[in-house]
Amino acid sequence: MKFGGTSVGMTTGLSQVLSIVLYEHERWTNLILVVSALEGVTDALIEAAHLAQLNNQRGYRRIVATLRTRHLALIEHLPLGSTEKTALQTDLDRLLYDLLGTCQTVAEHHDDALRPEVADKIVHVGERLAARIVAALLRQNNLRGVAIDATDLIITNNAYGNAIPDLALTRERIATHLLPLLQRGIIPVVTGYISSSVTGKPTTLGRGGSDYTASVLGVGSDAREVWVWTDVDGLMTADPREIDDARVIPTLSYDEAAELAYFGARILHPRMIHPLREQSIPLRVRNVYTPQQPGTLVRDKLASMLPAIRAVTSIQGLGMSTSHNGPLAPLAQTVDSMLADLTGSHTDVTITSQSSSHSFICFVIPTMAGPDALHSLQVALNQDEDLSAGWNTRPVQVVTVIGTRLGEIHTLTANVLLALEGIPLLALSQAPSHCSVSLVVETQYGETALTRIHNLILKNG
Ligand code: ADP
Ligand code: ASP
Ligand code: MG
Repeated sequence: MKFGGTSVGMTTGLSQVLSIVLYEHERWTNLILVVSALEGVTDALIEAAHLAQLNNQRGYRRIVATLRTRHLALIEHLPLGSTEKTALQTDLDRLLYDLLGTCQTVAEHHDDALRPEVADKIVHVGERLAARIVAALLRQNNLRGVAIDATDLIITNNAYGNAIPDLALTRERIATHLLPLLQRGIIPVVTGYISSSVTGKPTTLGRGGSDYTASVLGVGSDAREVWVWTDVDGLMTADPREIDDARVIPTLSYDEAAELAYFGARILHPRMIHPLREQSIPLRVRNVYTPQQPGTLVRDKLASMLPAIRAVTSIQGLGMSTSHNGPLAPLAQTVDSMLADLTGSHTDVTITSQSSSHSFICFVIPTMAGPDALHSLQVALNQDEDLSAGWNTRPVQVVTVIGTRLGEIHTLTANVLLALEGIPLLALSQAPSHCSVSLVVETQYGETALTRIHNLILKNG
């Protein structure tokens, strides 16, 4: 079971976490918990790393002091006995003291580029703090909670900031470090998001990576199910922060959930579905504040799933057009490596269309790349003499419709296109899995397109 930053950030969320664990502990033979940093803490740590790189000592010290106050205030408000509380405070102070030391080393060498593994070492602290708090809360309530650093468990490649786990090595680590704890009746509280490379350097799994941690641990421990507890009632027809009347979807196939996450629904990490699908481990997404709700079940596709449009999502993209025709692969490679240098994320998806005299290529900017990624990429492209001469660049919105058997029932896609009457489409692409169609529109039409498609989902549902 994974609890996100939205669940562990406040005492109300933590008391829900506790009652859920107390209840589920009675129902299952073994439980593994994954927790991410308190909401906003990873952003603050990333900022601290940048300030250290600029040798802004006052700046990063202020951030560390604020983090200390916030965590200590949370502990203060938790129903913990004095022994547990004192031990926890000492633990947190040690972690924050080490963090200051790392920031100071970065600041002393600020003429060198910030090494990505050092940046990852800095952000690791958020997850470590949260896991210790949750483990202490469990112990206080007679559960055998032990905080475990996932750096000993999840072994990845060297793609700092957005690493990919080696499932075979990770499975071995789980067998030696985690399963024996379960046999002793311990509930491991594992840090989300963080991992280490084969050579032991700190890595992270990309923003929102605790979901991925849960999926990898589920697969590596042959779990019966993986549950993601968050602040909404399940996977919904649209992001409820963008569309007021979004509704929970009771069941989705792995393919559909993967497309939803991939094309911008922040609720799940885009790469987390693949390992679960390989082993047919069901995923449940539930609301920590309304545990009486069943949430969403993600599982293998069933023949009984009727053809329908089920969800719509939208994500930023960068559209590039030119008035001549030529090979697009070199451009895609250049843009992808620029984005990877700037943010540590790859574009992965490109949508292209070409005629005899015009070319259009759209790069989907992953949410994991962070809010400034699009702007930074545009600045970098404008500085590149070869590209800025021939290509016109502009921000666009990629609106993706997720549905069941879209490839078989073409009227579904036709209805979407009819709903978008009057909105110029820059490009359209159907996923090979036949469960999503992406439409590229000018940014100014993004919201209208999203709303109209969502109305269609409600009308048909
Ligand atoms: P956590 O801290 O639990 O990981 P996140 O903020 O990462 O939480 O993800 C939960 C958020 O995802 C929700 O609050 C919601 O705004 C957003 N979201 C985006 N798309 C969807 C969707 N289709 N269904 C549900 N939630 C979505
Ligand atoms: N704390 C990490 C982040 O903010 C991981 C997560 O939230 O899942 O990206
Ligand atoms: Mg998340």
